[in-house]
Amino acid sequence: MFISQVSHCNPNSALNAKLLMRFTAKRLRSVVNRTFVLAASAVLLLAAIPGQCIAQDSRAAEPRKGDQILLLGTHGGPGLETDRSEPASLLIVDGRPYLIDCGIGTMRRLLRAGIRSDSIGTIFLTHDHPDHALGLVDVMSNDFLSVDFGARGPRPAFRIYGPPQTQELVQAAYNFIRIPYGIFAAEHLGEAALVDPFEAHDIAHDGVIFQDDKIRVIAAENTHYQLMPAKFRARMKSYAYRFETPYGVIVFTGDTGPSDAVVRLAKGADVLVSEVEDLRGRENAARPQTEAGREASERAKALEAHMRLEHLTTEEVGKMATKAQVKTVVLYHLVLSGRTKNFVSGVQEFYSGPVFAGEDLARYCLGAPGGDGNGSHALQPCQ
Ligand SMILES: [Zn+2]
Ligand SMILES: [Zn+2]
Repeated sequence: MFISQVSHCNPNSALNAKLLMRFTAKRLRSVVNRTFVLAASAVLLLAAIPGQCIAQDSRAAEPRKGDQILLLGTHGGPGLETDRSEPASLLIVDGRPYLIDCGIGTMRRLLRAGIRSDSIGTIFLTHDHPDHALGLVDVMSNDFLSVDFGARGPRPAFRIYGPPQTQELVQAAYNFIRIPYGIFAAEHLGEAALVDPFEAHDIAHDGVIFQDDKIRVIAAENTHYQLMPAKFRARMKSYAYRFETPYGVIVFTGDTGPSDAVVRLAKGADVLVSEVEDLRGRENAARPQTEAGREASERAKALEAHMRLEHLTTEEVGKMATKAQVKTVVLYHLVLSGRTKNFVSGVQEFYSGPVFAGEDLARYCLGAPGGDGNGSHALQPCQ
C-alpha cells in the first residue's frame, strides 16, 4: 500500500487556503466569463500546488455533463436499518465519480445504482466512525477482485483520503482481504502475486487536500469530536469537505455540531449536504426509561451530550445554512426514518432556500443538464 501524509498541499505558496477560497468565490460570481476564468484558475492552482496534491485520474476524460450528487446511504448509524444504508455519497463530475464516506451497505447501493466500484478512483472519508468507514472493506474487496483477478492491462490505483489513522485503516482492510484472495492465488485461479492497488493519505490539517482536473477539495475540521479529550484529538479528527467543481461548489458537513469553521468553508456554496439529528425524537424514545426511574449512567449521559453538541438539529442546520448563504440544502444522515417532512420544515423555519431530505439512491443535478455546461445552476432532483 502506498501511503502519504497530506499536511500541507501548498506549504510554500503565498496562495493560502483562505485566498484560494476567496478567489473561488469570485470565480463563481462570474457566470459570463466562467470558461475563461476556470481555465485561468486551473493554471494558477496547478502552479501553486505541488505534485503530492495533484492527482491525475487515468480514467477517460468525459464530456461536460455537470455535477450529480447521488446519495447512496442516508441513515446515520451505527445500527443498521432495512430501508436506508449507512452514510455514503457520490459526487459525480462530468461522469467521474468521487465517493464521500463508506458506511456499511455502500457496495450494495453502488450495485443498485449501476456504478462499478472500480470506476471510483478517489474516496474521501470525513471521519472514521463505524457508520462512515466500515463499508470500505467491501468496496476495496470488489475493486481488488476486478483489478487483480479480472481486468487485464494497466492497473488503476485507488486513493483514499481521510483523517489521521486512514493509512492504518486501509492497511488493515487490505490485510483482511488479501487472505481470502490469497487462497485464489494459491489455487492458480487468479494472479499469482497479489498487487496492492490502494493509496492511503492521512489529512493532518485544514486546507486544500486534493486537486485534479475536475475538482479541488478543501478540508476544515468540524466539531464532531469537540468533547473528546485533547490527548486523542491529535490523531482523531473529523472533517467537512468543500468540493469546487466547474459547475458549482458542494460542501459535505460530515458529522458535526454547530461549527463556525464549517460555515466559513460553506460560504456561498451552491449545495450544503448536511447531517441532521432529530433530538426531540430521540428524547421521546428515551423518556420511558427515564420515567421508569432508571438513573442515567455515565455512558448514557455521554451519549446525550454527544448527540446534543456533536450533531446538528434542524434549527442548527438552518442557521448555519443561512449564515453561510448557501443556495440549497440536502439533508442526510437521518436517524428516524419516515419523518423526512419534519426535517425539511424544521430547517426551513431558519433558512429560506430549497431543502431536500434525501432518500437512498436519490440523485440531484447541478449545471449542464443539456450537457453544454450552460444549463440551470440551481440544484434539482435529476430527471
Ligand atoms: Zn455518523
Ligand atoms: Zn460520526
